[in-house]
Amino acid sequence: MDKKLIEELKLKLLEEKKDLEKILKGFAKKDPHTPGGWRANVPKYDGGHMEEESDEVEHYQNLLSQEASLENRLKEIEEALDKIQTGKYGICENCGKEIEIGRLKTYPAAKTCLRCK
Ligand SMILES: [Zn+2]
Repeated sequence: MDKKLIEELKLKLLEEKKDLEKILKGFAKKDPHTPGGWRANVPKYDGGHMEEESDEVEHYQNLLSQEASLENRLKEIEEALDKIQTGKYGICENCGKEIEIGRLKTYPAAKTCLRCK
């Protein structure tokens, strides 16, 4: 694959990684002991009304699912960056052929080609 293109996609991946980490930092802390590498901040209960507490719990559950999807995207990006380093970037994990350039441009962390998607 074209080296210049890989460099371009790498920048895109790094940029997206930075964005994702910024969003995560807004409500979670880095924690190497958890599987996803991040832990959402637990909301403080200040002994308020029951209704407010269940709102808080719901809010926290939303954060956890948001955290999980951000972590997944982050993982995909890190894997793609690893592949750039090892020279395996842009190869479909399913059929072993090169992933379409257009697909990589819209989705640089793609692991499979359009046919295997
Ligand atoms: Zn494929």
